[in-house]
Amino acid sequence: MKRIIVAIDGLSSCGKSTLAKSLAKSLHYAYLDSGAMYRAVTLYFLENNIDYENPEAVADALQHIEIHFERIDGQNRTFLNGRDVEHDIREMSVNDHVSPVSALSAVRRAMVAQQQAMGKRRQIVSDGRDIGTVVFPDAELKIYLLADADVRTSRRHLELASKGIDGEWEDIQRNLLERDRIDSSRADSPLRKADDAVVIDNTLLSEEQQLEKALELARIKLQE
Ligand code: C5P
Repeated sequence: MKRIIVAIDGLSSCGKSTLAKSLAKSLHYAYLDSGAMYRAVTLYFLENNIDYENPEAVADALQHIEIHFERIDGQNRTFLNGRDVEHDIREMSVNDHVSPVSALSAVRRAMVAQQQAMGKRRQIVSDGRDIGTVVFPDAELKIYLLADADVRTSRRHLELASKGIDGEWEDIQRNLLERDRIDSSRADSPLRKADDAVVIDNTLLSEEQQLEKALELARIKLQE
């Protein structure tokens, strides 16, 4: 059986992780949540008062960060230095700082190296901003997801509420649009559609419909 890599990129809260998780489950592949890694680095910087505008402080801090994933009760959990931070990395304080932290080349180099190691044996679905362009430029299937900004805000609002995290709709939208702006305009690995990515606009699609479309594309690649 052919082993492929599926790379899913797109703006904040456009449904990438929902699609990536369900696709990984359907294909019996691993799921790599690259955003969780940038969130974990950001949480470390915040908790340890690291001035991330200071390159030496960043380089030193990166030496002390170990991130890994575990599946517990069928759920993906992110661990930072041995501690389960899956909940804490979704907090608004992390949302507010994750894009400037992710724009730092030293941070990106460290994360991309780990992500590429995790994808060595292929059979992986990963989502983020630079997966199809930088992390796995040779991914067999690349999907670029789109969704309307109000729909994205409402989805994030619901997602946060379901995790017991408070947030005003307007604040959530402001944060999404600001992250989109920084993620798309940074010098190192800006978010952009890979030339060979397939665009799926899921504004009017249900989760099942978007999964069906993606599965169809994956099946084609698996048979090629
Ligand atoms: O996907 P998620 O919203 O969890 O990602 C959080 C942030 O991490 C993004 O806004 C972006 O700044 C950064 N990120 C990135 N490259 C990736 C994945 C996430 O820069 N591959």
